[in-house]
Amino acid sequence: MEEVRCKNCNQLLLKAEYCFVEIKCPRCKKTIIVKLKKDRVSNTTKNSE
Ligand SMILES: [Zn+2]
Repeated sequence: MEEVRCKNCNQLLLKAEYCFVEIKCPRCKKTIIVKLKKDRVSNTTKNSE
């Protein structure tokens, strides 16, 4: 399981083995797109403003 954290504020968003989701950070309200494969975590902030 990988921990996925918000790039902006480091809030823990989810733990998963595999996912491809769009999630809104409850702390900083940024929308984060998380692409999680077996051995690689990639998360990007959708709205950077
Ligand atoms: Zn955040």
